[in-house]
Amino acid sequence: MRFYQATTFLFPRRYEWRILLVCFAAVLVPPLACAAYQAATGQWQPEILLVLLGATLPSAALGLAAIRALLRPIETATQMLRAAQAGERVGPVPVGNADLVGRLLHGVTVAASESAARIERLVETTERDELTGLRSRRGFLDSARRILTDDSNGVLAMVDIDRFQAINDRFGHATGDALLREVALRLDHGVRRSDLVGRWGGEEFAILFPDTLLEEARVVMERLRASIALDPSLQGDEWPVTFSCGLAPVRSFAQLDHATRNADGALYAAKNGGRNRVQISRDD
Ligand code: GH3
Ligand code: MG
Ligand code: MG
Repeated sequence: MRFYQATTFLFPRRYEWRILLVCFAAVLVPPLACAAYQAATGQWQPEILLVLLGATLPSAALGLAAIRALLRPIETATQMLRAAQAGERVGPVPVGNADLVGRLLHGVTVAASESAARIERLVETTERDELTGLRSRRGFLDSARRILTDDSNGVLAMVDIDRFQAINDRFGHATGDALLREVALRLDHGVRRSDLVGRWGGEEFAILFPDTLLEEARVVMERLRASIALDPSLQGDEWPVTFSCGLAPVRSFAQLDHATRNADGALYAAKNGGRNRVQISRDD
């Protein structure tokens, strides 16, 4: 480390240039020694000096090119490590031999795949709702950002389980949780693969129907509403599980906030209208 530290001043940020400079200096020692000897003895033989220089310079150029090529994998490994640390996806790391560079490349492979797995776990934790396995609100919004282009023609549905507090109070929190999982599963299975279902929070869910007319979305939500309300397996103790739903058109991701307010307004109207119903927003 001492020589490494002592030579830092040569090229503080370019280690490979330092190696090349040291090698170049080493290669120049024989012609310089020869010139010094001739100067000291006074026996000038310029042709010998020229032959020596003529042999030294091309061989130095070749040697430096070879060293530069040998240093290339270290440069690649450094760039890949930097990318892995920045959370970027690292492509396949080249495989080295059983030498120093091989071990370094292997280390990069391990570090890159570990950090990729860690990032994936983090994204999974923030984008998935633990209880229901649906997208969390953040996951829902991230997916919606990818799906909703500027001229989308989609529908947003806000779903809220009716009198859920009373279910919790009567049957306990664990039953409430199981019911949330069950409703989440039915919502998820009851829509197309291209539709987006997320847990908005508490006992509220959001569904995005891309490229769908309001009437089409209403039919789907009506079918889901009826199938859940009439499902005997969800009616513990003669207690029907129902939800209310508000629908609003959504035309772009920038307009999603506005659509959410409209769908919430319609949901509020559905609750006021007696619950267990699907209401289309009157605002646009
Ligand atoms: P409304 O028909 O007006 O929607 O009535 P509600 O009782 O469903 O609405 P309210 O907002 O009063 O109550 C929602 C309840 O949902 C309150 C909260 O304790 C419960 N809740 C929220 N998240 C969870 C959860 O993860 N598990 C369980 N078991 N309950 C939850
Ligand atoms: Mg609620
Ligand atoms: Mg509710």
